Amino acid sequence: MELLKQRILKEGRSLDGGILKVDSFINHQLDPKLMQAIALEFVQRFQGEEVNKVLTIEASGIAPAIMVGYILGVPVVFAKKKKPNTIDKVLHTKVYSFTKNVTYDVIVSPDFLTSSDRVLFIDDFLANGNAALGAFDLINQSGASLVGMGFVIEKSFQGGREKLECNGIKVESLAQIADLSDCKIAFKE
Ligand code: 5GP
Repeated sequence: MELLKQRILKEGRSLDGGILKVDSFINHQLDPKLMQAIALEFVQRFQGEEVNKVLTIEASGIAPAIMVGYILGVPVVFAKKKKPNTIDKVLHTKVYSFTKNVTYDVIVSPDFLTSSDRVLFIDDFLANGNAALGAFDLINQSGASLVGMGFVIEKSFQGGREKLECNGIKVESLAQIADLSDCKIAFKE
């Protein structure tokens, strides 16, 4: 997606450890017009698939996910990283975050993810694939069907895509980054 790639080149910063900082339009400040364009692109890439729910993980996945849900006219569920006291029964998994070097709990209420759901998972980044595999675990626990997974940015050098495709998951990413070494940002051809 050319618009997104140009924005990454203009405002993204390549940090040590293969981290891309995109705080000015995805992870802190948000650009609604760009998010709308991102969501339209996701909708086009998953055209023809029957989807009745969008799933993401808080927090940065919520913005692209809600735009996709708005266009498709379906509810958006965000898996939570802490169990609120207001929820009794939960589906639960654990996810290791390499950016924060911690393992955190991810939960979703079985009221909002059920065996009748056909789910499109949307997130901001695909890196090692741990967050996405956690979401896949929750979807499997609920008995829902996974239609596919869409990521705004994929860091192709971290191998997440291969892990997901091994599980038969259809993966779409709008910008694929091949290399972030030496403070450079190189896209996959
Ligand atoms: P994974 O579980 O695929 O290793 O990492 C995915 C999650 O880690 C994303 O949801 C995102 O929040 C975070 N993440 C991974 N790599 C980056 C990065 O380079 N920049 C930012 N801002 N977040 C990242």
